[in-house]
Amino acid sequence: MGKKILGIHHITALAGDPQENFDFYAGFLGLRLLKKTVNYDDPQTYHFYYGDAEGSPGTVLTFFPVGANSYRLSPGAGLVSAVSWSVPAGALEYWIQRLGTHSIEVHGPFERFGERAVAFQDPDGLQLELVETAEVSGKLWEYGPVSRDYAIRGIYSATLTVRNHQPTEQLLIGGLELRPMAAEGNRRRYISASGGPGRLVDILEQAEGRYGIVGLGAVHHIAWRTPDDRTQLELRGTLEREGYALSPVLDRNYFRSVYFREPGRILFEIATDPPGFMVDEPADRLGTELKLPRFLEAQRETIERFLEPVAVPEFNKSGAQP
Ligand code: ZN
Repeated sequence: MGKKILGIHHITALAGDPQENFDFYAGFLGLRLLKKTVNYDDPQTYHFYYGDAEGSPGTVLTFFPVGANSYRLSPGAGLVSAVSWSVPAGALEYWIQRLGTHSIEVHGPFERFGERAVAFQDPDGLQLELVETAEVSGKLWEYGPVSRDYAIRGIYSATLTVRNHQPTEQLLIGGLELRPMAAEGNRRRYISASGGPGRLVDILEQAEGRYGIVGLGAVHHIAWRTPDDRTQLELRGTLEREGYALSPVLDRNYFRSVYFREPGRILFEIATDPPGFMVDEPADRLGTELKLPRFLEAQRETIERFLEPVAVPEFNKSGAQP
């Protein structure tokens, strides 16, 4: 297998209220808030990054909190329809109870490819799953509200819902060098060469019905990991020759990105592993201040005036006890 794509880098979704998003992902699910910044293409909107202790690729979920009055997701084909997280074996009972105490409706436990899982939604309707697995995981965030025996270990997989699995499969295998792994009904699983978190992805074929529309509770795009800038450019060249329309390489401060739409209409990104989240904040302070890229620093005052203030959970700071 190739080493051009090492699995999922991050997944980006749309949220409503920024504080509610903080409270759910850091305060309830126990992910670490890695970065509080803005959408570089729309600096009046926040961009939050969550993940493991170090922001390892394959553990990162990011949000644009676009406001609670925005249009909601319309489910259907052409979207990433679920994000799955790894939890240790035996952790599901804890999570079922924790979700129940917060009045979150739980579907399952159910079995998929021989592993136990539950499904539920975040406050904006984003479909999440927890899967009990021994899959290799990210670096545990020790100061979150969930004990290490049950804590989320990184992204397990994502579900790509498309009308026809074939063209998307062809891109995953031929372009991104993933390998078919298993199939169950209309769900097909693929695995990447990397040994880290986020190495699995499922294609769910839904031939009937309409295309989905991105809105609150929807995944905006899924990003794939590439080890360095040179490999990213190579991949960009290959995909361009195959007829894909790709963005130029964009500097996202924590990685560099190229975007394109896969044949099933889902927005894909190829993101470099370097430089990572420690480029503008030390490891023990990740997520504690509003970080802006250099080109927006001159507008900081205006930007801060527009953004709704949010309180970073105290336990997000290294050393603070939950
Ligand atoms: Zn992205």
